[in-house]
Amino acid sequence: MFEKFSDRIYIQPPEHYTDRPNTGLVIGDKYTLLFEAGNSAANVELLKGRLQVQNLPQPDFVAISHWHWDHSFGMHAWAVPTIAGRQTNDRLLKMADWKWDDESMDRRVENGEDIVFCNEMIKREYPDRNEIKVVAADIAFSGSMTIDLGGIECQLIHAKGPHSDDAVICYIPDEKFVFLGDSNGKDLYGKPWHFDIEHEDDFLDETAKIPYDEDKVKEYLALLDTLDFDKCVGGHAGVMTKEELYSTFR
Ligand SMILES: [Zn+2]
Repeated sequence: MFEKFSDRIYIQPPEHYTDRPNTGLVIGDKYTLLFEAGNSAANVELLKGRLQVQNLPQPDFVAISHWHWDHSFGMHAWAVPTIAGRQTNDRLLKMADWKWDDESMDRRVENGEDIVFCNEMIKREYPDRNEIKVVAADIAFSGSMTIDLGGIECQLIHAKGPHSDDAVICYIPDEKFVFLGDSNGKDLYGKPWHFDIEHEDDFLDETAKIPYDEDKVKEYLALLDTLDFDKCVGGHAGVMTKEELYSTFR
């Protein structure tokens, strides 16, 4: 269920079994924005149902943080305008042509286009992979984009960071809060690491061994330094303070 952070912000916590990330709801007087699209149509239906049961508004816009499947594959199932960074959309347009049979998925792992972890999680989320539908967002922006929801503003900012070069964050100045997406995370695509579905409990230990790209972290923190926020949330973890976020890079 969505958890209340404030009158304006609710957060659906991550669900690790099929790698569903946090989903953020920002409620304005006129419009509501959902940050992260869910990883499948089934995930979207669940989110819509939870909003209804909890008497929360359905979104008028859905924005995503980056191209990775767990954040983007639900986009087609929201019947509202979707928003992504230009680089994210470029990646999604390429991915829209991908095939999802075992052979194609294995080949992409071999040539480095995808990773074992995502393939295993996709197989779990989609009992029928014919249901996978990858689309680009309706609205693409470069740099940053501000949305006035009525009484509250969301700034979507192309923040890059160590996880993925296309990463966008959602900064809400009025609440001193940032949805980070995965932007603060390790680069699971660019750096080698080991994942075995038979030993999935080792995930945190294995990813902890991946080094950060120091230059990317420096540039990322320089951007975050300019934002006035107290709390934030990454894509697959809980709410933390700005200080706690910074301490993860030390
Ligand atoms: Zn990611």
